[in-house]
This record gives sequence, C-alpha cells and structure tokens, in this order.
Amino acid sequence: VKQDVTNYIHLSGPLDALLHFASPASPVDYANHPIATMKVGSMGTHKALGLAKDKGAKFLLASTSEIYGDPEINPQPEGYWGHVNTIGPRSVYDEAKRFAEAMTMAYHRTHGVPVRIVRIFNTYGERMRTEDGRAVPNFITQALKGEPLTVYGDGSQTRSLCYVKDLVNGIARLLHSSVATPVNIGNPHELTIQQIAELVLRLTGSKSEIVRRPLPVDDPRQRRPDIGVASKELGWTPHVAVEEGLRKTIDYFRQELEGSQSVNQLGALAGM
Ligand code: UDP
Repeated sequence: VKQDVTNYIHLSGPLDALLHFASPASPVDYANHPIATMKVGSMGTHKALGLAKDKGAKFLLASTSEIYGDPEINPQPEGYWGHVNTIGPRSVYDEAKRFAEAMTMAYHRTHGVPVRIVRIFNTYGERMRTEDGRAVPNFITQALKGEPLTVYGDGSQTRSLCYVKDLVNGIARLLHSSVATPVNIGNPHELTIQQIAELVLRLTGSKSEIVRRPLPVDDPRQRRPDIGVASKELGWTPHVAVEEGLRKTIDYFRQELEGSQSVNQLGALAGM
C-alpha cells in the first residue's frame, strides 16, 4: 500500500510487525528535500507508531549512525550520545532520526509497544541508484564512465562499508530478538574515502583520475560501528569482505549503465 506516512495511516486486517524505513538517506537527497525529510522522520514515525500500537504490532525503526553526528570517539558504541550540529544542513536528517528514536522509546515506555531500533551504518550494494550521490555509487559510476572520481576534502575522512546482504541479515535477527534498545549494524572495516576511491579504480580497472572537491559542511571525520551488542545479543557479524561486495555492486552498475546507454542509443536512433 502506498500512502503518505505523515498523514494518518490506515491498514485493514491484522499486522504482526511494522518496519519504518521511510526517509531519504543520501546526504544529497536530504539536502534537496529538507522539510520532507524532517516530516517523514518525525510525523511519519509518530503515525507509524500509532498504527503499530493500534494493531498490537512489533515496531522496527530504521535509525542511523548519523545520530552520532561528527563523532568524538571511534568506534561508536550505542552508549555514545553523539555530536550533532542542530542547525547545520545535515541536521534535518540527524535530528529527525534522533526524534524518531526518542518517540519510539516513548511509545515503548508509555504504551508498551514492542520496539526495535537499528542504527544503520554506511551500506552499499546492488540496486542503489547510479545518481544516488553517495560515495560508493558516485565512485563506481564515475569509474565505469571514465570520468574523474570526486573525492571531497582531502579524502582522509573515514567510513566503514557494510554490504547490503549482511545488513539485511542483521536487521532480520534484530526483528526476531527481544532487544528493545538501539543496536548498531555495520561493518567495522574502516577505510579512508581516498582508499575507497582507489579500491573502486582497481576493481573496475578504470583509468579515471581522482580529483578533489570541497568537503560538505559538517561532514563527519570518522565513522566506524562498535558491533559488540549485535555480536553478543544477536550473534551477528558481517561476512562479506568489502572487495567481494564491491565486485558484485560494480557488476550491477555496469549492467545498469549499459542498459541506459543502449536506451540512449535507441533514443538517438529514433530521433534520426
Ligand atoms: N564523498 C566523496 N565523494 C563523493 C561522495 C561522497 O568524497 O562523490 C565523501 C563524503 O564527503 C563523505 C564520504 O564520502 O566524507 C561518505 O559520503 P556519503 O555521501 O556516502 O555518506 P555519509 O557517510 O556522509 O552519509
């Protein structure tokens, strides 16, 4: 059912579990849709929680490592409260998700809604959009097109990349667990952005160069999940090494770009 979650959500029949993933997650997308991002994270979460309460359903919130902001400690454990600029351009996402966590815990404490909160760290894999705007889709698309790879800042900032299949497995385990407090799900293998760009060049065999672009405002310096809770409580650790996951992702992007290229060629032919 496709509905605007910032309005009252109606669903007939019983409901076992509600997984609230609605929101842009690419910094480019939430910069382009700041108010919609705040509404879906705040009002959308409120409405989704209301539905879960009404149906007696379990509620899972897709939260984010962004609630830690530009973290002062590395890796980030769930007990770290974060370092977010409340009025910066990223705050529309960060603060909406922080509000969403607070609202989720309020429904848990006040109404006894069974809740699960997953803090998702940087994830990549097949079916991301070539125009997504995040580092991995940008670098792969640029490498395959023979365009320069755009590294923002000096490239020394870090991220830790989790392959989507590992993430989904972790979320499924959390959903079926009884852990009502937030759980980090991500891959602790930390790389600099420069290293990620170089890795993409090597795995694609691209001859593209790496160019520097300005660092976005409030771009976190470092990010790496402490996955002690997921490991202990869910028996979860990621299994897919970054090279293996990137190879699969590159194959997918190659097909996507070849597909769109042949469409463009057909379009050009049709226009002749
Ligand atoms: N980044 C980059 N080039 C790009 C896109 C992103 O250097 O074309 C950097 C960005 O500044 C950040 C990191 O890569 O330091 C990860 O950015 P992304 O948008 O993937 O997600 P974030 O972790 O910031 O939410």
